[in-house]
Formats: sequence, C-alpha cells, structure tokens
Amino acid sequence: MEKYRDIGFKLTPQRLAILGYLEGRTDHPSAEEIYRAVSKNFPTMSVATVYSALEALRLRGRLLELAIEPGRKRFDFHAEPHHHLICTGCKRVVDIHRSFPINLRAGEKQGFQVTGSHVTVYGRCPACTSSMGTKKLRSKKK
Ligand SMILES: [Zn+2]
Ligand SMILES: [Zn+2]
Repeated sequence: MEKYRDIGFKLTPQRLAILGYLEGRTDHPSAEEIYRAVSKNFPTMSVATVYSALEALRLRGRLLELAIEPGRKRFDFHAEPHHHLICTGCKRVVDIHRSFPINLRAGEKQGFQVTGSHVTVYGRCPACTSSMGTKKLRSKKK
C-alpha cells in the first residue's frame, strides 16, 4: 500500500484491488477485463468505479491508454515508456523495451518540442499464423 501513496489519489479498497490487478501484468487488459476480475472480490463495485480509477491513474501518468480496437481501450501499467507489437488477428499486445531513435527534421517538427514517441508494429502472432495455416489446409481439402 505504501508504494502507491505517491500516486496522490484516495486509496479505497476497490482502487487498491484495481492497482493490485494491474501490477506486473503485461497483457494490456481492457477496462471490462479489469472490472470482471476485480468485481469477483467486490460484487457491489460498478464499472464506473473502474473507469474513474483508470482515468485518475492515466491523468497521473501511471497508466498508458492504448487504442488498439475501436471502442475497447486497453491499459498498460508501466512506468517506463516502451513500444508495442500488436497482432492484427487476436489483438495480443507485446511490449518492446528498446528505443527507436526518431529524428524529425526541423520542418517536420513544426515548432513542436518533442518529448517522446510511441512505435506500434503490426503483425500476426505465432498462434494466429498457425491457425490461419490450418484453415487454408482445410479449405483446400474441400
Ligand atoms: Zn494473434
Ligand atoms: Zn505495453
């Protein structure tokens, strides 16, 4: 509980449970997934409580919001900035911890003070690639 004190928001038991769920996860859960998991221990908790806690964390820079699928935000509880590899099939998100130097030309910056960047690489994960392979085989047999 002590380590969350510097976040600077009221640590209710529900919010602590949300933080506990997010801690150490690398699968970038959606708000709905977080709600489903945490509400097991807090059956009276509403989805709105989850959304407001996530928003409070996001505003404090503790949570990164990823727009991977329209209408379904995914959340990343990492302090350090990192990049993402996203499967276009199952929407699995994998972290890439490496810096990609992006050097914008003066003209491209258009007066911006650049503070960071986020690289998203799209592709198909091994599981989706192999399931596509079996689908193709099946359709060939017909
Ligand atoms: Zn996949
Ligand atoms: Zn991530």
